[in-house]
Amino acid sequence: MLDGMNAKHSILAARAVRWMAGLLLWLAAEGGSAGTGGPDGAAVLEFADGRVRCVVEPGPLAGAAELAMKTALRTLPPPEAPSTLAVRLLPPPPFYKRWFGAGSPHGMQREDEIALQPEADGVKLAFRLGHEMSHWLVAKSNPRRPPLWLDEGLAQRIGAQAAAAAGRTEKRGLARTPPDGWEACALTLDELTGLGDYGGSPAASGAFYWQAERLVDALCERLGRDDFLAYLSILSTPPVPGWQAPLRGRWWFNDSDFEALARAIAPSTPNPTVPPK
Ligand SMILES: [Zn+2]
Repeated sequence: MLDGMNAKHSILAARAVRWMAGLLLWLAAEGGSAGTGGPDGAAVLEFADGRVRCVVEPGPLAGAAELAMKTALRTLPPPEAPSTLAVRLLPPPPFYKRWFGAGSPHGMQREDEIALQPEADGVKLAFRLGHEMSHWLVAKSNPRRPPLWLDEGLAQRIGAQAAAAAGRTEKRGLARTPPDGWEACALTLDELTGLGDYGGSPAASGAFYWQAERLVDALCERLGRDDFLAYLSILSTPPVPGWQAPLRGRWWFNDSDFEALARAIAPSTPNPTVPPK
């Protein structure tokens, strides 16, 4: 997901102040004093009888990483072979990106590493960790990546559950609001499930993530955990069938079931609250 930052100040004096602040931050980051820690400061966490190890750097991230991985493992199985995931913070974006308001990804997962932008808000941090850990666990247990809507929708669902868990520990209310302007970019069920790339405007990308999560929520509720995981495995193992075929063939979905799924992702549907557990 992209993080838009506005640079609205047009007065020259304000720009000079921002430029100086950006320069100082850049010098701090380039000097290696951004607080990202070294290997000595890493924490090692173990889950699922040692089948999942997380090396978290810097150590203070460990609390959020532990909560997020425990949450993710309530839905997704641990990898069959013992596996190690590295979790680290990215250095702050270069000052010129902040100056021009360019967006940067909040986080990314590649092979056995998750890298996140620094984030002071514990609930947002838990969301991003849960999201990326979902991608990692799905990739570890399946021969290929599932369709985009399924991979991202599940990652959003698990991110929301991790955020809810973090919110409970911080005793914060967590009403979620949908992304701005998503209704105008809303996709049909066929468009959502056929999407191979979520590029486009922030509103279009927001609509994609919002609707993918709603669709995965609806499928999880209908199928239950074990059958949802079976469905995920079918759509992540070549030869991959169309997304509807296993639902019709193995779980007896009919046209009215697909109409219900279409309603679940439609803009007229009331906003859900964060899943309780
Ligand atoms: Zn993602």
